[in-house]
Amino acid sequence: MGADAAGMSAASQAKRIAGDEVQIVAFERGAHSSYSACGIPYWVAGDIDKPERLIARSPQAHRRNGIDLRMRSEVEEIDLAAGQVAARDLASGRSYREGFDSLVIATGAVPVRPSLPGVDADGVFGVQTLDDGAALLADLERARPRRAVVVGGGYIGVEMAEALVRRGVAVTVVDQAAQPMTTLDPDMAASVHQAMEDLGIEVHTDTAVTGFEAAADGRIRSVLTAHGSIPADVVVLGLGVRPNTVLGQHAGLPLGDHGGLRTNVQMQILGHDQVWAGGDCVEVLNLVSGQYQHVPLGTHANKQGRVIGHNLAGSYATFPGVVGTAVSKVCHLEIARTGLRERDARRAGFAYVTVTVRSDTKAGYFPGARPMTVKMTAERRSGRLLGAQIVGNEGSAKRIDTAATALWNRMTVEDMTALDLGYAPPFSPVWDPILVAARQAAAAVRQTGADRGP
Ligand SMILES: Cc1cc2nc3c(=O)[nH]c(=O)nc-3n(C[C@H](O)[C@H](O)[C@H](O)COP(=O)(O)OP(=O)(O)OC[C@H]3O[C@@H](n4cnc5c(N)ncnc54)[C@H](O)[C@@H]3O)c2cc1C
Repeated sequence: MGADAAGMSAASQAKRIAGDEVQIVAFERGAHSSYSACGIPYWVAGDIDKPERLIARSPQAHRRNGIDLRMRSEVEEIDLAAGQVAARDLASGRSYREGFDSLVIATGAVPVRPSLPGVDADGVFGVQTLDDGAALLADLERARPRRAVVVGGGYIGVEMAEALVRRGVAVTVVDQAAQPMTTLDPDMAASVHQAMEDLGIEVHTDTAVTGFEAAADGRIRSVLTAHGSIPADVVVLGLGVRPNTVLGQHAGLPLGDHGGLRTNVQMQILGHDQVWAGGDCVEVLNLVSGQYQHVPLGTHANKQGRVIGHNLAGSYATFPGVVGTAVSKVCHLEIARTGLRERDARRAGFAYVTVTVRSDTKAGYFPGARPMTVKMTAERRSGRLLGAQIVGNEGSAKRIDTAATALWNRMTVEDMTALDLGYAPPFSPVWDPILVAARQAAAAVRQTGADRGP
């Protein structure tokens, strides 16, 4: 069920392993299979010229691989006792049932659409699917809006703000939180906020949207907030998503505290050996905090799908969990995080130290060297790395992968100071910013060892 990242990774992997021994029927209610929603902001910005380039594998390509992929076909019910799903062909309206030995639920997530007055005005767009992206682009070309409001300052909100700025639209981002990018600690998010304003993006924080006002022709005119109204010719909603689990829930499958399906490491639904789930509809274990979370990212959906495909086909693979790595950007500013924010560390019960270092993306004397900031968090006494965040210019964000690898391997910041990272002036200062942060964090940890108390 669901023919995008998780679903078709599972189907393709199972076919690769078991060939004709496994017969796969895939249902997709939409018009596209295996596409990159992640590319939508860059398509809207103009970096990608046509949506076909965002499609990794077409329905025809899947069918050539022996998968019976039924497009515009929605699963409406799961009957676990009968081993059947009820499906509807959306073109003809025909309903029918299909039997299964194993079921893969990869139904993704539902974008949050606030039930506020006026939300259905013309010119209010989501950006969840390729069709959403196409509708927004067509509108930008037809209506030529001058002022846009992006509701939500998470990574989709900031990426869409960049896309609109680059199309010459004046952008205001509205978020009810105190900072954009709440996936970062407030001090790091503050530099994102500042950089966005330097780019000419107006950022209204601590501002809840209360409604949308349309003109007489039904077209959006302004966004209403607790602090007044903001004129808008177009609105993009980036308010996050929640797991799409309604069918699983009706079938009695277990959900976690964050509304996602709960699986074991083989991605089997707990208590249901022949039902598998992966992607945005499941919760994942955060390996640093030991707590379950909903982390709707394509990187996890693809890996989980592959794991399902292996296990379904009689091979063996596991998805142990995540460490919470994510990267994003708004114009020249790159934003990255892994592990726990300070508030996550506190919630999980860790005592910790943090350090923040300012460094450069290349050797200071090298043309094009630009500033970057790294914040690192380590457990007191033990010095175990708990998290890192990076905000900086081009060349900053992917440095988070070093910290993510260290987290995965439960390294201490002291261990990290000895890492053999590549150096040449065009790529980094002689002390990579990650090494500088690790060195300072290790010193801060040593200091806690000298202190009394926990
Ligand atoms: C604008 C944007 C930018 C993003 N950028 C990034 C990024 O930079 N990095 C990153 O890691 N992630 C990013 N993501 C997230 C990433 O796209 C998702 O995590 C990923 O697509 C999840 O894959 P999935 O297969 O679980 O779900 P989806 O891709 O949502 O696929 C689920 C499919 O199931 C279908 N479906 C649902 N219910 C039914 C049903 N009952 N019957 C039949 N079909 C059904 C849906 O139509 C859909 O095609 C971005 C997402 C968006 C929207």
